[in-house]
Amino acid sequence: MVTKPWQTLEWKKQRAVLIKDGKCAWYGGKAHLHVHHTYRTRETRKRLLKPITRQLIVEKMQAGDIPRIYKEYLSITCPHCGASVHLPKRGKYATWTCFRCQNALDLTQTPPTLTRELSFYLWRDAYQAFVEKYAPEIAARAAAAGVPPEPDYLDLGKDTILLCRRCHTAFNHGLVLCRRCHTAFNHGLMLCPRCRQHYKVPHRPTCFHCLPENVKRKVRALKSLNDALEGLE
Ligand SMILES: [Zn+2]
Ligand SMILES: [Zn+2]
Ligand SMILES: [Zn+2]
Ligand SMILES: [Zn+2]
Repeated sequence: MVTKPWQTLEWKKQRAVLIKDGKCAWYGGKAHLHVHHTYRTRETRKRLLKPITRQLIVEKMQAGDIPRIYKEYLSITCPHCGASVHLPKRGKYATWTCFRCQNALDLTQTPPTLTRELSFYLWRDAYQAFVEKYAPEIAARAAAAGVPPEPDYLDLGKDTILLCRRCHTAFNHGLVLCRRCHTAFNHGLMLCPRCRQHYKVPHRPTCFHCLPENVKRKVRALKSLNDALEGLE
């Protein structure tokens, strides 16, 4: 039987340590905490590996190492202004009005050109097969480009946030948020745990309104200094 990461003793130990002094990343509560994997590194890897893989597909297809796939398209170049466009392949056109100079062209006189060239776009299964076949080459290029390695998801210190049961459920269900909270979420803001009215930046304990008076004064002073400095530029 395969042991799942969260069934291991190591996982349980780490989890206990994280939860002991932790609080919910969203609401700040300490009750019913969950360790939630964000898979940020995995997502970053996916994003960075894509262009590397695409480039390799181009090279392998040009070299003939994988079957060549062709695409065809009709294009027309305006003799008046030099603008050129691809035309949808289907459909017969008698005239074409140039989008740039608005001259109407008689396509029976100046027929569109049919171009046939390599298409480097592989469909899902073919793409997957390519990724598997050239895994070592992709990995070598990724390493050279500084793409982070697949993290060890047994290490709970990485790519995780703590969430209370309520927020965790909300997270897993895609978070139903009102427009105000949604905007705040997208801007990395959290609901102030003190007033539950205004929003706060993650590094501040509360929103501006809930800060002690002396801290508020400092923030205001900093802001006016900043404004003054900006005025000097
Ligand atoms: Zn034109
Ligand atoms: Zn929470
Ligand atoms: Zn809301
Ligand atoms: Zn507040």
